[in-house]
Amino acid sequence: MKTEEFEARLNLVEEDLKKKSSILKELPLKAKRIFSIRDVVEQLVKFIEPDKLCEYLVNELGGIFRESENVLLFLFHRKRGSLSLNYSLRKDKRVIREKKGDIIDWWVLKKNQSLFIEDLSSDYRFDFNSLFAYSERKMRSILSSPLSIGIKPYGLLRLESKEISAFSLEDSRALMAICDVVAIVLERAYLFNEIKQLATRDSLTDLFLRNYFFERFEEELTRSSLKKTAFGLGILDIDDFKKVNDTYGHTVGDLVLKKISGILRKNVGNSGNVIARFGGEEFVFLIVESGKTIVKQIAERIRKDIAKSTVSFRRKNIQFTVSIGVAMYPKDGIGTQQLLAASDKLLYQAKRTGKNKVCST
Ligand code: GH3
Ligand code: MG
Ligand code: MG
Repeated sequence: MKTEEFEARLNLVEEDLKKKSSILKELPLKAKRIFSIRDVVEQLVKFIEPDKLCEYLVNELGGIFRESENVLLFLFHRKRGSLSLNYSLRKDKRVIREKKGDIIDWWVLKKNQSLFIEDLSSDYRFDFNSLFAYSERKMRSILSSPLSIGIKPYGLLRLESKEISAFSLEDSRALMAICDVVAIVLERAYLFNEIKQLATRDSLTDLFLRNYFFERFEEELTRSSLKKTAFGLGILDIDDFKKVNDTYGHTVGDLVLKKISGILRKNVGNSGNVIARFGGEEFVFLIVESGKTIVKQIAERIRKDIAKSTVSFRRKNIQFTVSIGVAMYPKDGIGTQQLLAASDKLLYQAKRTGKNKVCST
């Protein structure tokens, strides 16, 4: 073998060795990253609150994808057909103006495909000049992946960097894998909340249901006895509701129930107070940290507001009234059953003595 030939071969071998050693050097880093992705995924499955899940995820992604300046999480609202920026991690603290997503986000969502942009200014799929990410935040690389199960979209994750080619294909694959898990965990969290909602809220009025009301009632009793404060319990029953249903039909009856729940919310809806649909046409409410005068005033306002309101049906304005019984803690009782019995008795007193009135002791 000639010397030049030998030297040429030697050079090749040296180059090959350099390449391999740089790959070897990267291995511990890659392994570390795989472990941190595994840790994040392990934590993710423990979340059942969508908000907490999203917050945790965005913060962790900032650590896994160190090249990213911004990590954005958009959620898709199926009913409204819109996207909204739910969580963001912004290392440069700049405001993200595209709260409803930009063309890139909609591309990812609609195509249900990941997007890997090495340099925004040479990617001719998008009019980059019109993107705030480019014009304001000076981002050049973008990595984005949909959060979807099959063709059902839940949102998307987006990473950005000012550097050109900040992300690798490997980053893109890692983000896709993470998104697959996140979509499943998100769906589970949504389902869990839906079930919780079904168990605590009435579907017609969106008020709390009886069982949940008792939980809050017990809590209020404990709280009030510790703080030595009074509170009022009201029971409201629609007057001659059977007649409304018989004359105009159940649909109108349902409208009346909704109207009343709105009026209750308006008058008793402040924090701490509780309103619930107790049964068919009966409602209960707690007015916390208030004495008898205030509670009676509020109950009277509710009665008046309801008597003034109408629901329209076939160009007719239908009127309706309610009777309310009001009992006070601790004067009229110190337990749930005692207080309920007291207010129920007062409600029937209101019914017996002419309806459309508030009775208290
Ligand atoms: P009173 O003044 O004595 O309370 O008379 P009332 O007619 O309201 O009382 P009654 O208990 O005889 O009738 C209650 C009616 O409420 C009967 C039932 O059909 C109706 N109701 C209960 N739940 C619902 C509901 O979810 N939707 C509708 N439309 N009606 C309901
Ligand atoms: Mg009744
Ligand atoms: Mg009634």
